[in-house]
Amino acid sequence: MNIAILSRNKHLYSTQRLLEAAKSRGHKAVIVDFLRCYMTIASHKPTLHFHGKELNDMNAVIPRIGASVSFYGAAVVRQFEMMDILSLNKSVGITRSRDKLHSLQMLSCKGIGLPVTGFANRPDEIEDLIRMVGGAPLVIKLLSGTQGIGVVLAETKQAASSVIEAFMGLKANILVQEYIKEAKGADIRCFVIDGKVVAAMERRAKAGEFRSNLHRGGTSKLIKITPEERSTAVRSARILGLSVAGVDILRANHGPVVMEVNSSPGLEGIEKATGKDIAGMIIDFLEKTIQLKQEKNAKKLKNIN
Ligand code: ADP
Ligand code: MG
Repeated sequence: MNIAILSRNKHLYSTQRLLEAAKSRGHKAVIVDFLRCYMTIASHKPTLHFHGKELNDMNAVIPRIGASVSFYGAAVVRQFEMMDILSLNKSVGITRSRDKLHSLQMLSCKGIGLPVTGFANRPDEIEDLIRMVGGAPLVIKLLSGTQGIGVVLAETKQAASSVIEAFMGLKANILVQEYIKEAKGADIRCFVIDGKVVAAMERRAKAGEFRSNLHRGGTSKLIKITPEERSTAVRSARILGLSVAGVDILRANHGPVVMEVNSSPGLEGIEKATGKDIAGMIIDFLEKTIQLKQEKNAKKLKNIN
C-alpha cells in the first residue's frame, strides 16, 4: 500500500511510529505536511498537489491534524476522500471532534454520560448560567482549546463570573462545566480502534493542578477499565464517526462521563504506559479496511459487467 501520513512535523513520536509501523509491514509510506498541499476543486476531477506533484497514487491517508490547523487539515482530508482515497478518520469526524460543543451535543442526545455543560455567547444572566451547571466550583473552557490550555477551574461563584466575563470580553467561545471533584485530578484515556478499546491509561495531574494533560506535567500509567467505561468509549467514537479515537473519561460518582474525544490521539503516552504497539494496530486496521474496500469495488465491477 501507499500510505501518506498527514503531519506537520516529521519528528513527532506519533508520526515516526506510524511511519515505522507502515514500513515494517512492507508498505510505502511518506510524511506529507498538509499545510503545503494545494488542491483544485473542479467538476469530476478533484486533485491534490504537494511539492509540485500530484498526489494521486495513495491507497490511504492517516491524518494527524493539530488543533490550530483543523480547518485546512480537514479540507485536505476531504479532498482525499473526494479522490476516493481512504482516510483513517473521515474529515467529518475530525471536524466534529475538534469542536467540543458539537461533540458534546452529539453525545448528549445518544445518552452518553457527560459533565453538565453550559454554553453561552453573551448571557444576560451569568449567575443563571452558573446555577445551570450546579454552581461553583466549576470549569470554564475555551471551545477550541487543547492540551489543557484554556481550561480554568473557578473555585467560587465570584471567580467564575469574573473569568466568564473576561473570556466574553475577548469574544472567546466558552463552555461552562460541572467540576467532577471526585475524579481527583485524574482521567482515563481510552484508545479506540475499529470499535474496540485497544489500550487505556490513567493520567494524573501533578500536585496542585487539576488538569491531567501530559503537556501540563501529568503522569500516566496502565489501568484496567470497567465494562461501562469500555462501552462509553466505544459508543462515543462511533457516534462521532471516528474509526480511531482517544476518548477521555472522568470517573464521576454517578458513572463515567466523557470530557472529550480526540481524533488525532497521541501515541507516545499510551504506548509507553501500556507497552502496546498501537501504531502497528492502526496500520493493521488500515490494511483490513483497504482490503474490504477493494473487495467491494471488485464486486461492484463484476455486477456492472
Ligand atoms: P483539553 O482539550 O485542553 O485537553 P479538556 O477538556 O480535556 O481540555 O480538559 C483538560 C483537563 O482538565 C482534563 O484532562 C481533566 O484532567 C481536567 N478537566 C477538564 N474538565 C473537567 C471537569 N469538568 N471536571 C474535572 N476535571 C476536568
Ligand atoms: Mg483533554
